[in-house]
Amino acid sequence: MARYTGPVCRLCRRERTKLFLKGERCLTDRCPVERRGRVPGQHWAKRPRETDYLFQLREKQKARRVYGVMEVQFRNYYKKAQRLKGRTGENLLRLLESRLDNVVYRAGFTSSRKQARQAVCHGHITVNGRKVNVASYQVKVGDTVAIAPKSRDIAIFKEAIEKFQRETVPWLKVDANKMEAVVVDQPAGECIDVPIRDEMIVELYSR
Ligand code: SF4
Repeated sequence: MARYTGPVCRLCRRERTKLFLKGERCLTDRCPVERRGRVPGQHWAKRPRETDYLFQLREKQKARRVYGVMEVQFRNYYKKAQRLKGRTGENLLRLLESRLDNVVYRAGFTSSRKQARQAVCHGHITVNGRKVNVASYQVKVGDTVAIAPKSRDIAIFKEAIEKFQRETVPWLKVDANKMEAVVVDQPAGECIDVPIRDEMIVELYSR
């Protein structure tokens, strides 16, 4: 699956908010969003006309960038969210939160979603004891996500668990010693670290 490989801090600057794409650096004063308040590019001083479309588009781009999802895949998530019962926007965020790479990050096993994605793709993650190397794999309630036994000594996991003892979300029960996390509930929209107004994404795609 295609993915964005360019400079990630630029994405935060474009959205004028911290998207926490770079792990440890995001928590320091080296974060460019804090140092340089302007959007990237040559014409940064020209402010576009503030229309509803602009706000809706920015909200969608923000969500896409937080989860590292390309446009086509994001639209497929939206279509799937529409088919599910309940509010489409909430379903959309729930589908994104249920991605395996996001769960690995949320459990505190890596410092960023990008690192989590790499860990999954390189076969370091198991779901219910079986290796899964698809970052978009959807976890379900009751699944156990863990670092594969042969990968538990890898420094990035150990460091992330030690350094990033971030508050984990209530829908995950994490056992840092065993390097595993159990999904105990459906991901909830209010637990998302970057505020995303899902209703604006729905408005954008409903045009
Ligand atoms: Fe870069 Fe992280 Fe700051 Fe975003 S939040 S600009 S990824 S350091």
